[in-house]
Amino acid sequence: MSAIVEPKRVGGFPFPKSDPAERKKDFSEVQQPYTTKLVMLEADRCLRCGTPVCIDACPVHLDVRGMNDAVARGDFGLAYRRIRETNALPGVTARCCPQLMGLCEDACVMRWQGEPIAIGMIQRFVADQEQNESRQPDPKGEKDTGKRVSVVGAGPAGLAAAELLRRYGHSVTVYEELRTAGGTAWYAIPDYHLPKDVLMYEIVRIKGQGVDVRTGVKVGDETRLSDLLDDSDAVLVTTGCKDVMKLDTPGADLKGVYQAYDFLEDVFVDGVDEYMKHPGYDLGREVAVIGGGDSALDAARTALRLTGGRVTIYYRRTEKEMPADPLMLQEASEEGVGFRYLAAPKSYGGRDGRLTGVTMYAMQLGDPDPEGRRSPVPVPGKEFEVPCDSVILAIGRGPNSYLQRVSGLKTGKRGSVLVDDRFGTSIPRVFAAGDVTTGETLVVKAMGSGREAAQRVHEYLMGLEDRHVSLYEEYYTRRSFERMEEGEEEELPPP
Ligand SMILES: Cc1cc2nc3c(=O)[nH]c(=O)nc-3n(C[C@H](O)[C@H](O)[C@H](O)COP(=O)(O)OP(=O)(O)OC[C@H]3O[C@@H](n4cnc5c(N)ncnc54)[C@H](O)[C@@H]3O)c2cc1C
Ligand code: SF4
Repeated sequence: MSAIVEPKRVGGFPFPKSDPAERKKDFSEVQQPYTTKLVMLEADRCLRCGTPVCIDACPVHLDVRGMNDAVARGDFGLAYRRIRETNALPGVTARCCPQLMGLCEDACVMRWQGEPIAIGMIQRFVADQEQNESRQPDPKGEKDTGKRVSVVGAGPAGLAAAELLRRYGHSVTVYEELRTAGGTAWYAIPDYHLPKDVLMYEIVRIKGQGVDVRTGVKVGDETRLSDLLDDSDAVLVTTGCKDVMKLDTPGADLKGVYQAYDFLEDVFVDGVDEYMKHPGYDLGREVAVIGGGDSALDAARTALRLTGGRVTIYYRRTEKEMPADPLMLQEASEEGVGFRYLAAPKSYGGRDGRLTGVTMYAMQLGDPDPEGRRSPVPVPGKEFEVPCDSVILAIGRGPNSYLQRVSGLKTGKRGSVLVDDRFGTSIPRVFAAGDVTTGETLVVKAMGSGREAAQRVHEYLMGLEDRHVSLYEEYYTRRSFERMEEGEEEELPPP
């Protein structure tokens, strides 16, 4: 029963955003939270479906239905505990997930009746309440098994895996090359989208569960993979993506031509305030960003905030084919980022070693490729000049291949770590998960992969390999609905 007696509405409750003219001056958060009343009303629109397609669509199978039910009754603590059962980064994923792009809100049946439930914003409200008041216990763990697991990489995949393995009672040490845990979510996702304190709070909670995180250790260097194998019963590699794709465009070595990933890492790895003390990039006032994904948008919006100048994104296809989240696209254009479609760099021009502009090909869409996407091809004889002070290239990056090269781990597509259907690699007792096995995905997808791999590591350590049960399915299809209906609060073993 809902605590708010108001008629159900089908339209959805819009959440506020900060003023684009103001927000583009700093890195403060764009999306603003619901009020308590609105969040309860929004959650109460949820039909509590018998077959919750929203949960199936979530890579960590977040108990969306249970969360909405608890929020609609004003029980934010219960909602938090339900989220935490399968999601160790609730405030992070609430903000970072493109929920409408193949995830929970895209699947929500209310989409067909008006607006899907604003699942991300509800989750965010619950996570914020917890961060601000910190009242709920962490999920319970099993008793110690005496088994030791080393995880390489403290990004979303490594953190999610480490948390689950710890809950299974194993002793877990995470090794991270950078000074701070969090992976790409820490050093590349800008603060206006994911404030650092949200990620840091959730990392601290994971550490509080007994996960030992050792930063500043690059595995493969002084500490080798074989050292970790000597020291533990299993190793899980979650080293993410790093190897930047390169175009051999003439003039790419001019000063003023930058890689988006290096740029974002430089700005965010120690915080924007630190960067501003010694800015490492001379962007000028006229910036051209090349690419069509979220990284291009983030590079453009970050450059806009740092320069206050004119920033334009050039993409070789049309807006329809852009892989970026449409919500982020809208936010970028509200802030004044310009877009020019069907354009690709032909060459960079400069004076005294410094970039002064780009010659662009005008493109058109040609025949569909094997995946059905129409390939962009230059329009013969049609080129145009773009005068600019800097170019930021955001054309994609692939798996971080360092550890594979130095340790001999067998590789698959584009240097990824090759894994079997149990996340095992070519080296016995070494498992791998997250973006290093797939190429760049999403925070929540990397977490889902990390959790699945952790499950397989646990089964390996405990001799349960032939069990082959999807614990997620067992948990959600058999138990979570009954539990919600009966208002049962008993905590289940880690799913
Ligand atoms: C600019 C940008 C914006 C993005 N925005 C979003 C977004 O809005 N929403 C979203 O869902 N996703 C976004 N993503 C994608 C998302 O960040 C990744 O999919 C996700 O972080 C992958 O998680 P992971 O744990 O597999 O790898 P990573 O997050 O890359 O973590 C790997 C970690 O391993 C460490 N490591 C690597 N090698 C070693 C070694 N040898 N020894 C020790 N440590 C090592 C790295 O330092 C890193 O911390 C974005 C990505 C980029 C580049
Ligand atoms: S699909 Fe939508 S309405 Fe149904 S349980 Fe999930 S959030 Fe609620």
